[in-house]
Amino acid sequence: MSPVKALSALRDSLSLSERMPLVFLGHGSPMNAIEDTSFSRTWSTLGRTLPRPKAILVVSAHWMTRGTTLVDVSAMPRTIHDFYGFPDKLFAQQYDAPGDPELAREVVSLLASHHAEGDETWGLDHGAWTVLKFLYPDADVPVFQVSIDMTKGLAYQLEIGQTLTELRDRGVLILGSGNIVHNLGAVNWRPNSKPHDFALAFDALFTEKLAERDFAALADRAGLGHLLTAAHPTVDHYLPALTIAGASDARDDLTYMTDSIDLGSISMRSFVFHAA
Ligand code: ZN
Repeated sequence: MSPVKALSALRDSLSLSERMPLVFLGHGSPMNAIEDTSFSRTWSTLGRTLPRPKAILVVSAHWMTRGTTLVDVSAMPRTIHDFYGFPDKLFAQQYDAPGDPELAREVVSLLASHHAEGDETWGLDHGAWTVLKFLYPDADVPVFQVSIDMTKGLAYQLEIGQTLTELRDRGVLILGSGNIVHNLGAVNWRPNSKPHDFALAFDALFTEKLAERDFAALADRAGLGHLLTAAHPTVDHYLPALTIAGASDARDDLTYMTDSIDLGSISMRSFVFHAA
């Protein structure tokens, strides 16, 4: 289905539900923040399609912690330019949404069994702000990030999603930002480069298992085997997709968007779970 068709079907479904949808976006290159691409256009359309949340909780691939799950409890999260060698225009970008310290502290309590702690030093990394600026361009919805604990397994991130899911009924949009396939070592910078076979294969496998709600298969490192290692030499960009899967339930429908492989080895596949 084309993104436009998918999003118009999504709009009809969302208008019937109070429960907030769950969104996973493949963010890809930071340049999407300042270029008019099919991805950034889809994010803008999605922003106009989604109900207005009371707050946004972002799980980004770029906030990696070890042994703790940190929650940003600051009042005004700073915009982090966590990349190198890009144009000045990208470094000049700011996303000035407020935080939500009260709700963020509640999330620390909610995730107590996942070694959660409040943090006032992070802010919004590019996994968050490069997509938020299209979803909510006025930066007027409070937003805060939750980190990914790189010392834990894949199933741990599903559990985090399961724990966070109750926030959906309180008007909170849970947004995962990473990529379903992310192998920077295999990137091909030539325009219109052909996707690697492993990229197509992992993307297809993920799509099928997610649609079947076979989350155990998606978190089974041994079962995914070499395909996982090829698609994700490190799993940081994969984990946020598992958080979103974990937060979904049997009542949700699933809509896929922007399903192309960029630069040969970056899947831009995105998806929304929404109450049927
Ligand atoms: Zn990234």
